[in-house]
Amino acid sequence: MRIKENDNIIIANKIKEGLKKTGGYCPCRRERTPDFICMCKEFREQIKDPSFEGYCHCMLYYKEK
Ligand code: SF4
Repeated sequence: MRIKENDNIIIANKIKEGLKKTGGYCPCRRERTPDFICMCKEFREQIKDPSFEGYCHCMLYYKEK
């Protein structure tokens, strides 16, 4: 299992800029609760799921099985 940033540096930088603006909250969502602090709960659960491979909601990170 490996987590890597999106190879597309334009997307990765855009999301990172968004994270700076929100102070670490997921820039793709409106909620500002602890579950949405990057890495958000959804992606942490996807990381734990052995059958999941793919991007997080924002496409900043990619999980390889
Ligand atoms: S892991 Fe991805 S979807 Fe989750 S908060 Fe970070 S950038 Fe957003």
